[in-house]
Amino acid sequence: MAFISGKDMLQHAYENKYGVGAFSAHNAETIQAILWAAEEEQAPVMIQVGQKVIQYMGLEEMTKMIEVMAKNITVPVAIHLDHCRNFNQATKAIQLGFQSVMFDGSGLPFEENVATTKKVAEFARSLGIGTEGEIGKIGGTEDDITVAEEDALVTSVDEAQVFAEQTGIDYIAVSIGTAHGIYKQTPNLHFERLQEINAAVKRPVVLHGGSSVPDDQVQKAISLGVAKINVDTELRQAFTLGIQEVFEENREEWHLAVSLDRGRQLMKEKVQEKIRVFGSSGKAKDLLNNEKIVTL
Ligand SMILES: [Zn+2]
Repeated sequence: MAFISGKDMLQHAYENKYGVGAFSAHNAETIQAILWAAEEEQAPVMIQVGQKVIQYMGLEEMTKMIEVMAKNITVPVAIHLDHCRNFNQATKAIQLGFQSVMFDGSGLPFEENVATTKKVAEFARSLGIGTEGEIGKIGGTEDDITVAEEDALVTSVDEAQVFAEQTGIDYIAVSIGTAHGIYKQTPNLHFERLQEINAAVKRPVVLHGGSSVPDDQVQKAISLGVAKINVDTELRQAFTLGIQEVFEENREEWHLAVSLDRGRQLMKEKVQEKIRVFGSSGKAKDLLNNEKIVTL
């Protein structure tokens, strides 16, 4: 088991031009799907715990499950808190042993977003934990919060730079044309803006809404500074389709070990596919051999 700081993980990816998949987990089987895929690919990986699963399963419950299931995993893992909108929840996650936290103050006025994100970043940094902040609104619906398309503005270079400098975050989520959930049409990322933002903020950029973005666009974004790609929707689809398959074959298959196993298998394959697209396959060893890396 090798839990490492999200900061170290993403810095290595950023410097070596590959992307780390930040995959959302929802229960025991989805945690295993992510960990087993990463192990098979020998890829560093982030497991995201989001707001919906915290309500449904519990923050501590998810953390302990991940810790137990990662026991025999050899690749670097970081547990990441996704879209936290409450300072106390961020500190609780850090105390529980998360290696990475996101404070999402994108719905707040700029100054308030800066002030709270900075507080989270200072607390996390004192323990060697990575912090993500968000500037600009990402469209779509996540955890019951919907950002209408007209509000999902492309992040400006100036606001990204000021935000990164004033908060001291380690990686920055920006709005460059992706959305949460299922796309109505193929997204077109704003590469020029991404390039300008990367040049200004000089730290890893995070791509939210990574599901169903065409592979070539994701790879181009990685070449322009994206080091963390969040994937949730496509994984939930794979998991659910696996369960559906079982019931299409036999409507009276009451063994959860059969249906959940099929869901887990399909999701694991999807995670592996993403890891290969992001270029993080085989990077675990290189990252762990880096002497600057501290195991948390
Ligand atoms: Zn997101």
